[in-house]
Amino acid sequence: MKFHKNSLKLAGLYLAIIMTISLFFSASIYELSTQELDRGLRRPGPIVDLQQRDLPIDLNQRFENARNASYEEAKSRVLERLVFTNLMILVAAGFLSYYLAHRTLKPIEEANDSLERFTADASHELRTPIAAMQAEIEVALMNPRLKLSETKSILKSNLEELSKLTDLSEGLLKLARVKNGRLPKQSVAIKKVLQDSTNDKKQLAEAKSIKLNIDSAKDISVLGDEPSLKELFKILIDNAIKYSPDKSEVSLSVTKTKKEALIAITDQGIGMKASEIPHIFERFYRADSSRSKDNKEGYGLGLAIAKNIVDLHQGSIDVSRNLSSGSTFSIKLPLSE
Ligand code: ADP
Repeated sequence: MKFHKNSLKLAGLYLAIIMTISLFFSASIYELSTQELDRGLRRPGPIVDLQQRDLPIDLNQRFENARNASYEEAKSRVLERLVFTNLMILVAAGFLSYYLAHRTLKPIEEANDSLERFTADASHELRTPIAAMQAEIEVALMNPRLKLSETKSILKSNLEELSKLTDLSEGLLKLARVKNGRLPKQSVAIKKVLQDSTNDKKQLAEAKSIKLNIDSAKDISVLGDEPSLKELFKILIDNAIKYSPDKSEVSLSVTKTKKEALIAITDQGIGMKASEIPHIFERFYRADSSRSKDNKEGYGLGLAIAKNIVDLHQGSIDVSRNLSSGSTFSIKLPLSE
């Protein structure tokens, strides 16, 4: 509704500008035409020299009247044309102005909506751990016989909440960095990036006895920024481990086409519903609460960061459900050569 109102306001402004210009030109054309008509039709002096020819004496008067009548008629015809043209311009410019206003405001509106949603989501995520800490501290303060062990357990729980807040602020910072950033790109050997990323997540995998396999030729290099690519794969490997059962496998494979490297990260985890797939890369989106939110930590920022990193590399990222179980994230990145 607000968007429609703003579009109308801007369209009104466009229309006012167009009509001012049109009316200014019309007035000039009218002025010029009447001057020309005046010069052409109402020159001073008799039309015919009556003395030289033997003509009735009131002939000049009759010519004069006819000339004046043609002058007035031509003047009103010019005026009519100009009014008609301006009416046509008014209608056409009205539609055009609305169309242009709509097009101008649409991206601004979308950016505004996205910012509002982001602020609302971020404040919601911030509020939850803060409220939990506040409640615990308030209850503890009301207890006059608070024991040391209880105090310690409250502090421990507060520390956990604080660590969640740290994760959230780090996630937000990363997102802001990759959203506004431009990356210095060079040739990066993809196998090495995958090895480094899996090494970083080794402990996490070992804790769940998950096997991490890499299947990649040595010589595939992409054009990119190494730290950002590591960040991208760490997010995907982290998720693959987080959403997989113990003793399963996560495989990373790299192939290439003429222009692109294709990297697939496949897990045997909980997978996702088809209806969740279109939202999976949105900020703060977390799939079905019963399956992931309750027992897995996270804020739904990882895949949004991953998507932004891939976009900055002019690549693409998709996810598909595996036939048996789990999911596969497929990334395409431009080759460096
Ligand atoms: P987070 O993992 O912190 O919730 P992400 O942005 O990394 O946030 O992921 C968004 C959601 O996508 C997750 O909440 C989870 O539901 C789903 N998801 C991501 N990776 C996987 C995966 N490998 N298997 C199943 N679901 C996944």
